[in-house]
Amino acid sequence: MGTTRMAEFKGIVMFRRDYRERDMLVKILTDHYGFKMFFIRGARKRGFKMGASILPFTTAIYTGTINDEGLSFIDAAKDVSQYQKICQDILLNAYATYILGLVSAAFGDARALGRWYPKTVAALGAIDRGLDAGVVTNIVELQLLANFGVKPNLKRCVICGQTQGEFDFSESYGGLLCRKHWSVDTNRMHLDKRTVYFIRFLSSVDLLRLNSISLKEETKQKLRYVLDQIYNNDVGLNLKPKHFLDEMLKGSQNILNSHFGIDK
Ligand SMILES: [Zn+2]
Repeated sequence: MGTTRMAEFKGIVMFRRDYRERDMLVKILTDHYGFKMFFIRGARKRGFKMGASILPFTTAIYTGTINDEGLSFIDAAKDVSQYQKICQDILLNAYATYILGLVSAAFGDARALGRWYPKTVAALGAIDRGLDAGVVTNIVELQLLANFGVKPNLKRCVICGQTQGEFDFSESYGGLLCRKHWSVDTNRMHLDKRTVYFIRFLSSVDLLRLNSISLKEETKQKLRYVLDQIYNNDVGLNLKPKHFLDEMLKGSQNILNSHFGIDK
């Protein structure tokens, strides 16, 4: 078991909760040490100096003591800034919370994230800049699959290796089927061209260079469906933030329907 004193690290505050009478536990995703739980003494006392740096969806450069096991500690923070839109918009907040939950589920508490730290920062930054949160979330979901041990072949037909033409997605074959081989899986997803195109595209797009993205509502709903299937059936994750997000999406759909007088 190791301890690193005077460690300087970047971090994103994931959540916090009250602890004892005056203290708090704050979970932070750090660049070098992965997800860590920090004990913040006196965080609930009036006049606590580091208050702004331990708010959810805050990023900062922290100095403190990192313990491999058990709680870690923060002594100071600088360059504190907050994802403003994510903090103000409950739906964006739900997406961002789900993304952090996914990354946390993929890496656990004891592992450094490597390139997934900048990728996570980029995903939250993109949402905060106003890019479509649903699509950004799909990118994270697609690109994290390998970390969950699910590696669908999205490059070529899993039977014959064909890379061009029409494809569908098969869960049981773990990837794409070309038109010639659709017959091998009657339970294939029956996706349209556009959805397959975006599954392939988003699975390899560089989150760090994502400047704009625009998908039809119908395509977005299909992507949501495909990823729900894969995550429910193949990954087998059951995350609270995902349930919350689903409820939010259902709610906003109902509001839209009643607003525009659309009946189901
Ligand atoms: Zn084929």
